[in-house]
Amino acid sequence: MLEWILGLYCLYLLIKLYAALMEIGFVEKAQRFEPVILSAVNYTKAAAYKIASQKLLLTTTLYDFILFFAWIGFGLRRLDEIVIFENTLLNSAAYVLVFSAINYLLTLPFEIYQTFGLDKKFGFSTITPRTFVLDQCKSAVMFVLFGGAFFAAMVSIIDTFKDWWIYGFVFSFAVVLFINMIYPIVIVPMFNKLTPLQDETLQGAIERLLEKAGLHSSGVFCLDASKRDNRLNAYFGGLGRSKRVVLFDTLIAKLTTSELLAVLGHELGHFAHKDILKNIAASALMLLVMFALFGNLPLALFESLHVEPSAHAIIALFLLFSPVISFAMMPLFGLMSRYNEYRADAYGSECENQEALRDALMKLADENKSFPFAHPLTIALYFTHPPLTKRLERLGMHFESSTKDACAH
Ligand SMILES: [Zn+2]
Repeated sequence: MLEWILGLYCLYLLIKLYAALMEIGFVEKAQRFEPVILSAVNYTKAAAYKIASQKLLLTTTLYDFILFFAWIGFGLRRLDEIVIFENTLLNSAAYVLVFSAINYLLTLPFEIYQTFGLDKKFGFSTITPRTFVLDQCKSAVMFVLFGGAFFAAMVSIIDTFKDWWIYGFVFSFAVVLFINMIYPIVIVPMFNKLTPLQDETLQGAIERLLEKAGLHSSGVFCLDASKRDNRLNAYFGGLGRSKRVVLFDTLIAKLTTSELLAVLGHELGHFAHKDILKNIAASALMLLVMFALFGNLPLALFESLHVEPSAHAIIALFLLFSPVISFAMMPLFGLMSRYNEYRADAYGSECENQEALRDALMKLADENKSFPFAHPLTIALYFTHPPLTKRLERLGMHFESSTKDACAH
């Protein structure tokens, strides 16, 4: 079993490295094409940003690989010797928290580099060190409180039931639903200010749009995203009564009313097609697969790792290996998500008009410096949204044949 886990992890590593290298090669070639969608300056910057991000991905992938083997090789065992509380429940919960804290600290330098190095260099990041530290502290406190409670509950489930993975899955899924419900009303306000839209004309137009779509939500809010990042975005979140539309202040500042309504129409399309529920169902499926797998690990695995088959060792293995499982399932979810995006685009262009959505998407890409092309393997492995050129083509835009060749690559 251990050989299988190590073998699968190596395969995951090789696919990720190969895909990143292919993407770098692809973008290096594509950056010499005639710029499309983006201005010439931003097209060059977008290519450079993409290459730099892929290089960072190469580094973090290798780093994660070392961490994984360090945990498997000796880390899990050593931690068992260090964390020793009398009470089993306390001991297991503390083990998982310390395990997570070590992983967090070991990967923090990369997050700092991404935020203050890469994203600053390309003019995205606007966050001050003070806000960054505050964010990290708030997340840490929440993780210790809620994560600690969650892990303690999971440990009791594992220790109480023989078929714990079924109960564990039901419990985790209930937590996922709960988080989705409270996310826009409890978690977002901890980090950002949400204010009702100031612009009355826009507010009125949005309400008419919501009415036309037959949607009742708790409203449309403006998020002060610009205190961390310059990039434009919008999303629709929440469940039941907490569902709401959130427009980034960066988006409101750059788009015209008509373009904003088209973006909103796209988001409404996700709601009308119940895409949030579909995404939740997809994450339920992923959780179920993980629980079924980790609920039935053979004892021999723990023997070869020289650790007790304790609840906390199971959770740590789960956390260590879950990126591999989500990576394996991502192509399927990406396919579903890309299909949903096309449908939301169609809905959005019906709500407002095709040109407005097209202009908005192009402005978004230009402002966000998102490179319009990607290697097919990257698209298949990671993309939740179709490449922009494909989306624009569906919205009636035509590209030169040289650009088409690039898309076909
Ligand atoms: Zn969308």
